[in-house]
Amino acid sequence: MYRRDFLKLSAAAVTANLEVKQPPFLIVSSANGLSAMEQGVELLRKGNDALDAVIAVVSAVEDDPEEMSVGYGGLPNADGEVELDASVMHGPTRSAGAVAALKYIKNPSKVARLVMERTGHLMLVGEGALKFALANGFRREELLTKKSREIWLKWRELQSDKGAWRRQLETVDVSVAKIISNPPTGTITCFAKDLQGGISGVTSTSGLAFKMAGRVGDSPLIGAGLYVDNDVGAAGATGRGEECIKVAGAYAVVECMRRGAMPEEACLEVLKRVSARYNHDRSRLKTFNLQFYALDKHARHGSAVLWLQSDKERPKYAVSDGKAAVLRNAAWLYEAD
Ligand code: ASP
Repeated sequence: MYRRDFLKLSAAAVTANLEVKQPPFLIVSSANGLSAMEQGVELLRKGNDALDAVIAVVSAVEDDPEEMSVGYGGLPNADGEVELDASVMHGPTRSAGAVAALKYIKNPSKVARLVMERTGHLMLVGEGALKFALANGFRREELLTKKSREIWLKWRELQSDKGAWRRQLETVDVSVAKIISNPPTGTITCFAKDLQGGISGVTSTSGLAFKMAGRVGDSPLIGAGLYVDNDVGAAGATGRGEECIKVAGAYAVVECMRRGAMPEEACLEVLKRVSARYNHDRSRLKTFNLQFYALDKHARHGSAVLWLQSDKERPKYAVSDGKAAVLRNAAWLYEAD
């Protein structure tokens, strides 16, 4: 999208937003949260805290074996092990918790919440995070599904002609081959505003598929994959975590909103900072994608992605105001050729 169009759109958005009455509560998430939104809405309707609602949405997606970028069924690291990252922020108490490289526990978002509520720490990683989860009654489970194991095995075979893993290329079915050549990016980020005006958020992921063991992305880092300030709003990110961390993505989006930017405008502004780090060189920027999501305290929301990959795959995000959960269009900074 060009700047002129964007400005026109922003002006229209401002007018539209001022005219629309604020809904009593609202949930915003990455598009993969759409089918789970109702569970959060139910809680918000009953007056529950926004954190309960976002955990309900995110843990339903973590439990879903078909979602290959989050929780159970998420694609594993290069060693074939699923390592999960998550963070939570509770606006009213201004507190936060996180876990990273957590194995064998399918709901890292719930463990992150407990780190926040039951410890004086903010983040636990690896072995320590697992011990903490088990001590709190979480069940140790195998997180690889038949499908994600099969995809990893094929990926592993394709990595080397020299090692002992033999190539069995003829057995790779088309859908698996597609996933290997273009591993799904995913992650769920979700925030809500409750009836009391409290804003909370969660980001949860299995991280980049086939990452190095121990690699931690943006999702569990407060200020990168998630940031909430009850006086301003919330922001989250999906996509290439390393790039988000380098601009303190979610924090930067919230700061733009603090200065008066509309949510979509704030997301675009921070994507421009990402672009500037590469001197706006599209050939280098093309190697990754990144999407920001934002909700402000007036219940206005928006999202923007670095790359529009194709006209057929318009970037989206999910929103529910209690009446209906819908996918909304996100803005984009660049269009792929
Ligand atoms: N942001 C996640 C990470 O870098 C991955 C993703 O959203 O696809 O770990």
